[in-house]
Amino acid sequence: MSGLFAAAFLRRIGWDVDVYERSPVELVGRGAGITTHPELLEALELSGAGTRDLGITVKRRIAIDRKGRVIADKPFPQILTSWDRLQRLLRDAVPAENYHLGWNFERAEQDGREVVVHFNGGQRERADLVIGGDGIRSGVRAQVAPHIQPIYAGYYIWRGAPNEADLAPATRESIFPHFVFYLPERQQVIGYPIAGLDNDLRPGHRRYNFIWYRVGDAATLRGMCVDENGHQHDYSVPPPLIRKDLVASLLAEAERELPPAFLDTLRKIERPFFTPIYDFSSPQMVFGRVILLGDAASSARPHMGFGVAKAGDDARALAAALASHDDVDRALAQYQAVRAPIAERIMQHGRKLGTHLGVDLKTDEDRAMWRTLQDYRAMMDWIAVPNFLAA
Ligand SMILES: Cc1cc2nc3c(=O)[nH]c(=O)nc-3n(C[C@H](O)[C@H](O)[C@H](O)COP(=O)(O)OP(=O)(O)OC[C@H]3O[C@@H](n4cnc5c(N)ncnc54)[C@H](O)[C@@H]3O)c2cc1C
Repeated sequence: MSGLFAAAFLRRIGWDVDVYERSPVELVGRGAGITTHPELLEALELSGAGTRDLGITVKRRIAIDRKGRVIADKPFPQILTSWDRLQRLLRDAVPAENYHLGWNFERAEQDGREVVVHFNGGQRERADLVIGGDGIRSGVRAQVAPHIQPIYAGYYIWRGAPNEADLAPATRESIFPHFVFYLPERQQVIGYPIAGLDNDLRPGHRRYNFIWYRVGDAATLRGMCVDENGHQHDYSVPPPLIRKDLVASLLAEAERELPPAFLDTLRKIERPFFTPIYDFSSPQMVFGRVILLGDAASSARPHMGFGVAKAGDDARALAAALASHDDVDRALAQYQAVRAPIAERIMQHGRKLGTHLGVDLKTDEDRAMWRTLQDYRAMMDWIAVPNFLAA
């Protein structure tokens, strides 16, 4: 997303931009749901990607209890979209000849004016500027700021997005139309509808995004990162390789703990997968003519659902800075001065909301926030709400 946003925005101010993606195949079919914010809609419009057929508008948020009874109901219109849809809109904003699959960044060399980028297989390119939009485990950041490392939050999520058509009629009726919270102690289960494959928005053809937050220390996570073949992974396991015994115990716990509609949702996920939650924020985003953007520069815990919006705003700020200065270095200094403090604020806000899970509460403020969020109405007021930066 960051790379495409940067390309779209910089093209609009007259730069030639190429995007190099390490995946050799198109990134399609990633089932993740994405909550939207006014900042994201604005960035999509201003970048030229647009917001057509963006997603599903839910009208309300509800909270349910263990039996599935509605215990709170709040009118709250919000557009929910999917990773696939955003990627398609942004891909269409960048000419196909400027998007290159199968290029794995290896290193960059710079001399103050120009950068030479080395990719796998000995391929290289020259550029005025290199933008590392290569995600939370950024190889670009590893080269320019190896000391900056994401920090494990002490919890992870199980997730997936089953097809609407596979859900039981009672699930379709009770939770499918809504943004739903189930909040037992030290856990969160959140669900909302998203488009089906190929951005199918027709009733009966959509999916339901399911997220279950669980607390687990670093040793637990390390154990989970041993795959079906006994291989130890560092951060997460590709979904097809997740051990069957982990999925079996997940389903057994779900039987004991989840309301019927969420249990049905989880059972209908073909391949549930887990994502450990990390965060960090790099105070430095500019390293000569190599810069960081999006999750490569900072990544917040996903409680605000704001990562793609931040990526869009980073790219927008970069283009605005480059458009208003002839001197590239000055423009980059402006980019960093504007965006680094905002990234830090977003990360801190994510930590605040993360106190709900009761992990590592260090200060009185953490404990006060934890207490506030034990009321499910506060969670409905705070999680993934638009305009939190302005509030
Ligand atoms: C559980 C969860 C829920 C989330 N929910 C939301 C939400 O509701 N709303 C929201 O806005 N955000 C959400 N986010 C955050 C959002 O997914 C990220 O902020 C966003 O994907 C960041 O985009 P990015 O382009 O910076 O990084 P990425 O999406 O990680 O993309 C990086 C790209 O760089 C490529 N790459 C990596 N290394 C190399 C290399 N060496 N050479 C070439 N290419 C490379 C990768 O293949 C990838 O395509 C969520 C995140 C999580 C974990």
